[in-house]
Amino acid sequence: METIDELTGQIRGCRLCSDRFAATTTRHQPRPVVWFSDSARILIAGQAPGARVHDSGRPFTDPSGDRLRAWLGLSATEFYDRSRLAIVPMGFCFPGYNAKKADLPPPPICARTWHTRVMAQLPNVELKVLIGAHAQRWHLNHKGPVTALVQGWRDHAPQVFPLPHPSWRNTAWLKKNPWFESELLPVLRARVRQLME
Ligand code: SF4
Repeated sequence: METIDELTGQIRGCRLCSDRFAATTTRHQPRPVVWFSDSARILIAGQAPGARVHDSGRPFTDPSGDRLRAWLGLSATEFYDRSRLAIVPMGFCFPGYNAKKADLPPPPICARTWHTRVMAQLPNVELKVLIGAHAQRWHLNHKGPVTALVQGWRDHAPQVFPLPHPSWRNTAWLKKNPWFESELLPVLRARVRQLME
């Protein structure tokens, strides 16, 4: 089996989506944001980096990251401790914008090419936090609405917690679903704390 260093090196050098990204309004080049180590006990399986993360080269360096850290009850230092927490999106690169200036979905070729190989390098993961429909489809084979899956979070806890995306676009969703903050998040935070200690 390939080593984790070989794999991360290959992902960092991946340019499979060059033509796809060059055809978007931002005409950017691939910049894979790779953030995992084989000792991690917590996996954050997200969607894809946004434009700010594309610039910083570090995952969740944006308001979504601030909200996600608050949801998990983690400081920035804890969150960026790769030895404890792996961040593996369904697309490693910023995919560009659609006509409404929303992020495009992660290119399916990314998960097809890399995800199984990355998961094989993470044998110590005891908690998977699945953010959004793309990660939920891959990890749980869930094809229905995100809300229904998140509402049924007790069916998957404490090994898996499906979450909505922490984007500002979901602020109205959070207001409509107060059980998410009052019931799900305290259990998730306790589980995260248990695995971080
Ligand atoms: S999104 Fe994934 S497949 Fe596409 S260039 Fe980036 S690392 Fe490669």
